[in-house]
Amino acid sequence: MKCEIIPERCIACGLCQTIAPEIFDYTDDGLVLFVGEPDAIHEFIPIEQQPEVIQAAKRCPSHAILFQNS
Ligand code: SF4
Repeated sequence: MKCEIIPERCIACGLCQTIAPEIFDYTDDGLVLFVGEPDAIHEFIPIEQQPEVIQAAKRCPSHAILFQNS
């Protein structure tokens, strides 16, 4: 599964990092980024972490996390 983040939409609520701390982290301003890949906006999500990422995407209040099953 591929995941895309759109930091321009992020409102720095912190929810995605709470739900999927192995995947999402934050800039100093609280905007979403990927753990270990601060410059990436796309990441491949291993199967074990997909449920958390899907939850984060569905619950993100500003629709800043997208995923694609493929
Ligand atoms: S849940 Fe959405 S709005 Fe909240 S920090 Fe994560 S990406 Fe940003």
